[in-house]
Amino acid sequence: MNIVLLGKPGAGKGMFAEFLQKHYGFTHISTGDLCRKNIRDNTIYGKIVEEHISKGQLVPLEIILDMLKSEIKKETSIGFILDGFPRNIIQAKELEKIVDVDAVLMIDVPDEIILERILNRRICPNCHKVYNLKDTNGKCLECGTVLVKRADDDLKIVKNRLQVYEKETKPLIEYFNKKIIVIDNSSQIDVAISKIKEIIDNLLKKTGENVWFVGHKKI
Ligand code: ADP
Repeated sequence: MNIVLLGKPGAGKGMFAEFLQKHYGFTHISTGDLCRKNIRDNTIYGKIVEEHISKGQLVPLEIILDMLKSEIKKETSIGFILDGFPRNIIQAKELEKIVDVDAVLMIDVPDEIILERILNRRICPNCHKVYNLKDTNGKCLECGTVLVKRADDDLKIVKNRLQVYEKETKPLIEYFNKKIIVIDNSSQIDVAISKIKEIIDNLLKKTGENVWFVGHKKI
């Protein structure tokens, strides 16, 4: 079963993807993480990816697709969680050529909460864990490394990312139509997590034995 996570920047897609990976064994693919890895590793794409991320723009389709396809080639026991892909209808059509999309979880959070969360978001440069500044003493609770702000979590860039979301990504709600399941993540995280659990348990019950198929059906 392959699931797409949709939502504004900072809505919590990465956190839910991590939960779904740990709890059910889904394979988490985050195109944002793949982009940052290409920058860190200084790959052939690194420079151009950095240019786009630093402006809050989408990275060119061919690059994102190339990154995505090499991840989707890998085996998965239960399926993929796609976090940050697709971000527009063209990407959705490309995705559907490669894998079936079984459900789209739309993580809903109002803009004012989004801004507060993103501006307080800190990451561990060592183990990449994500924190809210309010919940830490500025150091990673796992490895003690001093936390840093993501380069694109700057107010001006965030505003641009939100605009890109409105213009390019939001139309996907209509595109995916009946596959969309909305999850409110504006209050307690535990509430949203138990809702997600209930949804996935139900979806898995429906697919029955398919739970154990190897995720990529079309490749
Ligand atoms: P967020 O959802 O908070 O914006 P991500 O880590 O998912 O964070 O993405 C960070 C940046 O990486 C995006 O602003 C964009 O520049 C690039 N990116 C990620 N996924 C895609 C994608 N599917 N298509 C184009 N660019 C992408």
